[in-house]
Amino acid sequence: MEEYALEELFVRGIEINYLYVCPTKLWFFTHGITMEQESEWVDLGKFLHEQRYENEEKEVLIGPIRIDFISRGDVIEVHEVKLGKRMERAHEMQALYYLYYLKKHGIKAKAILHYPKLNEKREVTLEGREREVEEAIVEVEVIKSSSKPPKPRKSKICRKCAYKELCWG
Ligand code: SF4
Repeated sequence: MEEYALEELFVRGIEINYLYVCPTKLWFFTHGITMEQESEWVDLGKFLHEQRYENEEKEVLIGPIRIDFISRGDVIEVHEVKLGKRMERAHEMQALYYLYYLKKHGIKAKAILHYPKLNEKREVTLEGREREVEEAIVEVEVIKSSSKPPKPRKSKICRKCAYKELCWG
């Protein structure tokens, strides 16, 4: 697996997330197709974040990555606030990508995933997992560069997905 140079990293964190949520959704999203319901979920996430973490710095933008907030402990801590754990793998890979990206900037960091509705949090570190991130970046790039979306696969999440009309309507 080829290691990425910083200037080659154009993938956004949300794209890594969507790869694990649904590759079809990733394709729609990266081809500029947005639906109303999607923004409602984003608004709900933002509201929850602002209520619970009002004293923290707001979103931090570094190149193509958008981190909910950052704090400093023994190392830099990257914090991501999530609504629920159903997509935990997607959350974890998104956080790992942030850590990978920061490492390319020479910044050692760890990530904390927050699940305020469950009163839970989880620490994620990059150690021994860079290859997983690089494989995910390749997969995202392959899907984005495809001329048509991956065949949709029906799952429980389709019910609440903004793109359900496109897949199953
Ligand atoms: S409706 Fe289902 S298959 Fe289609 S994009 Fe959404 S999650 Fe993916």
